[in-house]
Amino acid sequence: MSGKAAASGVKEEARTAARKGRIEIRAERCKSCSLCASVCPDEAISISKSFNRKGYHPAEFRADRCRACGLCYVMCPEPGCITVYKE
Ligand code: SF4
Ligand code: SF4
Repeated sequence: MSGKAAASGVKEEARTAARKGRIEIRAERCKSCSLCASVCPDEAISISKSFNRKGYHPAEFRADRCRACGLCYVMCPEPGCITVYKE
């Protein structure tokens, strides 16, 4: 295993150990600004290739990683678009 691969594995383990939450994204309220994805420390949010009814590519949550830090909620400019749950 290369040093880079080992470092990646350590990062993934730390991410899994930190996991203790999840979020819900209301896709129809999303304006695809990417602010949530840009601040997420766990890279748990990506932007979908599909469109919502307003023609935006909504943010998507990767369910296997989230530390429930709330940064995505704080950054999102659209009221009620993101809800964070601690598990
Ligand atoms: S709560 Fe934190 S870790 Fe979870 S998706 Fe939002 S920014 Fe990422
Ligand atoms: S910050 Fe809010 S509006 Fe912007 S991409 Fe994320 S969920 Fe959508």
